[in-house]
Amino acid sequence: MFMFKHLFFVFIIVQMFYTTTAFSEELSKEITTKHTPELMKFYEYLHANPELSFQEFKTAAVLASELKKLGFEVKEKIGRTGVVGVFRNGKGPTVLVRTDMDGLPVLENTKLPYASKSVARNDKGLDTGVMHACGHDLHMTNWVGTARILTSIKNNWSGTLLFIAQPAEEIGAGAKAMLDDGLFRDFPKPDFCIALHCDAARPAGTIAVREGLACANVDSVDIVVKGKGGHGAAPHATIDPIVLAARIILDLQTLVSREVNPLDPAVVTVGSIHGGTKHNIIPSEVKLQLTVRTFKDDVRNQVLSGIERIAKAAAIGANAPEPEILIRNTEFTPALSNDIPLTQRLRKVWEDKLGKEFVSKPEQVMWGEDFSRYGKAGIPSCMFFLGTAAKKKYEASLINKNASLPSLHSEYYHPDMPASLETGINATVSAVLDLLKK
Ligand SMILES: [Zn+2]
Ligand SMILES: [Zn+2]
Repeated sequence: MFMFKHLFFVFIIVQMFYTTTAFSEELSKEITTKHTPELMKFYEYLHANPELSFQEFKTAAVLASELKKLGFEVKEKIGRTGVVGVFRNGKGPTVLVRTDMDGLPVLENTKLPYASKSVARNDKGLDTGVMHACGHDLHMTNWVGTARILTSIKNNWSGTLLFIAQPAEEIGAGAKAMLDDGLFRDFPKPDFCIALHCDAARPAGTIAVREGLACANVDSVDIVVKGKGGHGAAPHATIDPIVLAARIILDLQTLVSREVNPLDPAVVTVGSIHGGTKHNIIPSEVKLQLTVRTFKDDVRNQVLSGIERIAKAAAIGANAPEPEILIRNTEFTPALSNDIPLTQRLRKVWEDKLGKEFVSKPEQVMWGEDFSRYGKAGIPSCMFFLGTAAKKKYEASLINKNASLPSLHSEYYHPDMPASLETGINATVSAVLDLLKK
């Protein structure tokens, strides 16, 4: 009797495994044959029609209409141009799936048949070419594809989907805008948040994910170096802010090299310097713009206060007026930390689904990603990177340095389609199915 019971139990387990595996394979086949051709048209439309941060009006309307067709309750204009869709399907956790929507002020040079010809006015009132050079068009297609598939197999899971299309990731402002506008107050509060981001340096068909800290704190700092202007031929009668700015820039290099613990990554880059109008005029001020990248909060504070101290000290040394220093808190993006138990759980799901050799662990990067704000708000979150390089180009880049792959934000960047999309959808759908399994 015991023997019989035991065998029966084994039979049930094998049966369950077979059913799950068969379902999973069937689903992957369905993604390739049924969903991909339709989604490619959608992708090409998005690619050809990019919009700048907080100007994603048409994009948001298209995404909202896709969710409505699938039976989501949809609210628009959350955090200016954001979209929130809720799909309730019985008891269980709520999973937030995020896409970002914005393109970049880049003139496209990919020569793709569906390349963008869009032009838009930036916040300084200048016209600029616009391009999906960061792959947010692929993120959106993946998001719509995932929604289509999950709603079509709703008997296989139980819980609530919270699909959000976030504006203005490129300026680090969209996640904050949606949270400030009641994302976690007016909609079902998620138990988990997931998202993906394109990775230009990995081959299509692969993903990469890191437990814990993955992307950096990003701060923007403005310094106005003050002097006393006058004739270029009479420097003794002036306080030259150009020489002073040069000294500040060099002194700033000692912050990371001499003050921060070498085991703590940090970057201080002066990305912009503007001063003066003519050869023979010493100006009265010079403007510097800095980007500062760190992982730990104490290192962030150390570097930011160090910048202030060095700039002020150099001014005292030159007998110049105190410089103006502005740390732009509205443009701050906190470091992205993937929840460790959630990420370990999903890594297992993805290794089973895609194969262990296709799921790697990336090094930390000094990029910023405002998906971090959902985790900072207390929800276990995980962002994974999706390989998008065409396999042949990727292999050539390993052998030949001159064949290096275009990075994200490059005028030449475009993901290998549809291979990248299919891996993205397989990974996103399998993650949600695991989190909402019955
Ligand atoms: Zn970007
Ligand atoms: Zn991006």
